[in-house]
Amino acid sequence: MDQIIPYLKNSDHILVASHTNPDGDAIGSLIAMGLCFDALNKKTTLYNESPIPAVYRFLPAANRVVRNIKNQNYDLAVILDCGDLQRIGKAVSTVRQIPIIVNIDHHVTNTGFGHIQLIDTSACATAEIIYRLIKQMDIPFDKAIATSIYTGILTDTGSFRFSNTNRAAFSICQEMVGLGVDPYDIAQHVYGGTYSLGRIKLLNLALDSIKISNNGKLSIMTLSQDMFNETHTQAEDVDGLINYAKRIEDVKVAALIQENRNGKENSKDFKRFHVSLRSDGTVDVASIAASFGGGGHSIAAGFSIETTLSDITSQILKLAEKI
Ligand code: AMP
Ligand code: MN
Ligand code: MN
Repeated sequence: MDQIIPYLKNSDHILVASHTNPDGDAIGSLIAMGLCFDALNKKTTLYNESPIPAVYRFLPAANRVVRNIKNQNYDLAVILDCGDLQRIGKAVSTVRQIPIIVNIDHHVTNTGFGHIQLIDTSACATAEIIYRLIKQMDIPFDKAIATSIYTGILTDTGSFRFSNTNRAAFSICQEMVGLGVDPYDIAQHVYGGTYSLGRIKLLNLALDSIKISNNGKLSIMTLSQDMFNETHTQAEDVDGLINYAKRIEDVKVAALIQENRNGKENSKDFKRFHVSLRSDGTVDVASIAASFGGGGHSIAAGFSIETTLSDITSQILKLAEKI
């Protein structure tokens, strides 16, 4: 931590980025870090390739997050909540030209990319690490920073239910509430909204797609591009659907295979898929995802692959034999 601070303080033009298809931690950390650089009077760009999911657009400065960057002579890049640099998406080639890349993350599969790393796999969220960084730099927490940190921790711990929920999750969030964060207000924004009819219909198709391995220990849910088109839904509408597959009795590992919207189609059946994996805690899905070139946490991980639907489905079903 002490090693990283001089780099942050001595840079003037900073790019901050987090992973595509962002969750609350990716967005909350991105904004908290950006507001921290504002306090230090830095020129900062906040970048995320994907649109900000509607439920996170209430966050302060959410409208400052841009989806495209040009090489603008940044002297520092800060990459948040990414196990590897490719997770930021198309901007990788631009970011590689930035002289110093700082990697701040909590994934067990973090590759250690970049010139300086601040990786703590015991942190419940990247937002926990950003909190400590801001404290260490003596930057005062205002309500905007507090709201972003709180949202990152709330969402990455599944509202303090997941196994990464630690003491810091509670103590930091308590402190953020003391700074004016209203837990009910944030919960309403993140979890209290209504669903489009399309999302409910997508849920129906998703539930209908569930397959179970012969031994009953693995479930697979599949979402095709046709389903998205039919229901007029998008990536953010998929959030949480995998939990239905995970909660089936006896299931230890749930997989959600999602056909990518902008997937390259080399042939009619060869497509790009994102696979999300969830475990009941008895199986380490981070190592399974890593074996497919992805990563994540032991109970929640993912990877992308270009193949046919039948191939990826049978590869995943095969995993059931080992659990
Ligand atoms: P998801 O499958 O998108 O719900 O992600 C579950 C967890 O795995 C999150 O912590 C992600 O950051 C991580 N993850 C997902 N896809 C990848 C990937 N291709 N490479 C590394 N980590 C990933
Ligand atoms: Mn994340
Ligand atoms: Mn995270």
